[in-house]
Amino acid sequence: MEAQLEELKRQLEKQCQLTQKLQTEKPEPGQLQELQSEAVPGFRSQRNSVESVSEVRQSRAAVIAPEPLSEHLDIPRVKKTTSEAEQIKHAIQKNDFLSRLDDEQISMMVELLEALDRCPGDDVIVEGSEGDSMYIVAAGELKVTQAGHVLRTLSSGDVFGELAILYNCKRTASVRAATAVRLWSIQRQKYRTIMTNKSIRKREQLMGFLKTAQTLKALNDLQLSKIIDSMEEVKFQKSEVIVREGAEGNTFYIILDGEVLVTKKVNGQQKTIRRMGQGEHFGELALIREILRTATCTALGPVTCFCIDKEVFEETIPIENLELHDELKVLEPSPEPEDVQPGASLRLKDLVPVFYQEGRYQGDPVTLGVGGFGRVALVTTKHSGKYYAVKKVSKKHIVAKRQEGHVLFEKRILQIIQCDFIVKLHAAFKDSRYIYMVMEYCGGGEIWTKLKEVGRFDEPVAVFCTACVVEAFAYLHKKGIMYRDLKPENLLLDERGYIKLVNGQSTHTHTHTHTLTHTHTHITQTHYIFEVTSRTRETATSLPDFWSLGVLVYELLVGSPPFSSSEPQKIYSKILDGVVKFPPHMSEAARSLISKLCRPRPGQRLGNTKNGIKDVRHHRWFSTVNWHKLRMGQVEAPPPRVCVQGPCYINFDRFPHDKTQAEEEFSGWDKDF
Ligand code: ADP
Ligand code: MG
Repeated sequence: MEAQLEELKRQLEKQCQLTQKLQTEKPEPGQLQELQSEAVPGFRSQRNSVESVSEVRQSRAAVIAPEPLSEHLDIPRVKKTTSEAEQIKHAIQKNDFLSRLDDEQISMMVELLEALDRCPGDDVIVEGSEGDSMYIVAAGELKVTQAGHVLRTLSSGDVFGELAILYNCKRTASVRAATAVRLWSIQRQKYRTIMTNKSIRKREQLMGFLKTAQTLKALNDLQLSKIIDSMEEVKFQKSEVIVREGAEGNTFYIILDGEVLVTKKVNGQQKTIRRMGQGEHFGELALIREILRTATCTALGPVTCFCIDKEVFEETIPIENLELHDELKVLEPSPEPEDVQPGASLRLKDLVPVFYQEGRYQGDPVTLGVGGFGRVALVTTKHSGKYYAVKKVSKKHIVAKRQEGHVLFEKRILQIIQCDFIVKLHAAFKDSRYIYMVMEYCGGGEIWTKLKEVGRFDEPVAVFCTACVVEAFAYLHKKGIMYRDLKPENLLLDERGYIKLVNGQSTHTHTHTHTLTHTHTHITQTHYIFEVTSRTRETATSLPDFWSLGVLVYELLVGSPPFSSSEPQKIYSKILDGVVKFPPHMSEAARSLISKLCRPRPGQRLGNTKNGIKDVRHHRWFSTVNWHKLRMGQVEAPPPRVCVQGPCYINFDRFPHDKTQAEEEFSGWDKDF
């Protein structure tokens, strides 16, 4: 089974590569043998474009032969009791491959599975034979053997033979009933007929919808098909705002079901512009340029949309393909807002400190944190009353530690980052003694503090926190930036309970070593924050990020990092062994995610795989996350027993005032700061 799964993964990976290759280049005749495997219907991460399928079908002299699809759909459904259906669903969700099916496909699968009873000693699968069915164990036990060696025992809820529903292949192990068993089984032909017909029909419908979008006019069917592959289905409830006027727009929507009301503010009044229904779309300009929404769209009842984010869209279709077309240039640009960047007009002298209102430091200015390089103070402005966090660092200290380059670099990077999951830099200043970075204030405090308060997070809280980090990573990787200092101290909560990454470089008193890079930091004494990496995929330089993401998940769920020791060298060897001990309370999905992210061999790590961060997003630990809504800020943060009410600095530790003043520094390294 294990071997079979490995084989399945290997095959799938190969298949993904080949299918992708097919879309970019014409296959060589000799390649076709391998290119035969068909796109897997309903397999989300698969690029199953209609075109690539037909291209593949041109050659039939194949090892893995594609089969013609049976036209008729009246395949008998097999009634199941509720508990049977539940058991099957559970088995599907637990299985690496099947868990990729969407809800509808899972219910379809549940309906189609047939019951099969076997006596002790009966063979279900024989090594070396041609396989055409997949099985789920309903009751009883079976033994998996390979070349006579017992590999494992299968029992209720286990899935086996799933490779066979993808394509015709030889079984790599035998499975024999050890007791009387009941199985649920499905044959490839049936599975594929249903899945394919359904997805082809839906695809045709979507294709029709896409073709009516002005912005996409220039695209051919293959390109449209690629877009469909990358789109996500999102559901909205009655009265939910899908896009809000004035908000930053980066998503294009097609309405699959339901009605949407479009309104606009005119002289302070919300005016209805029109209603939109199935097949209509909105937000298409968001795909090609930075825009602010010019109207508000609200769900009139339950609405299902198919949507694609600008980022994903760009990955799929190079933007030049679109802007070549003149008619697009005349499409009205959205009006510039008056105040795009709230900090654009900030001046250093306008910032005034906020003071502790009570407690032993009453009357002293509020310090939010003390890092290795200086302090972060809470300030406000006379005009707006908005809060900011100002990081003030001694220039002399920077020079002494030879961090000039890093500081300039950090500022430059932070200036270009516009991501809701990363702390924004509103302004930067300098004087003869310090440099100042004025950041948005995250009033919810550090995740690290919250974690210490509660010991460990409940799973939904950890899922939410990690999902925010995944979004931040996705943004940074997209820009070719690697974040090398992931740890709970560098995750801050805003008032909504959303997580934001803050820059690292901390030598906090409570810093503990638990990331790969951090371990190095301690061994080699080099500090670094962001690192720009080559944008080519081959270099796969986002590697440490995913590893540290696994460590983070563990730490959030357990309260301490998986690889810890008072001696850095020991941590390092623990890391290299890659053995993680899971406490009993940790869910199976969490264990699976952590193990996959913390694999010692980078090439095998989830996220470094072909689909990159998408594979991380699709892991079942995140199955409750609506990624799109998260990005749009429409997900309610799980009630973090965490955000405390009180003065605006209540969520932070308190620090005594530091009255010393840094020496002046005039070497001029900061002229570009
Ligand atoms: P260092 O790089 O020296 O570690 P950080 O930027 O991590 O400095 O900041 C140190 C601490 O200051 C953080 O751990 C956090 O507690 C607090 N802090 C930093 N930035 C903000 C912010 N934008 N809002 C609120 N608190 C902040
Ligand atoms: Mg820090």
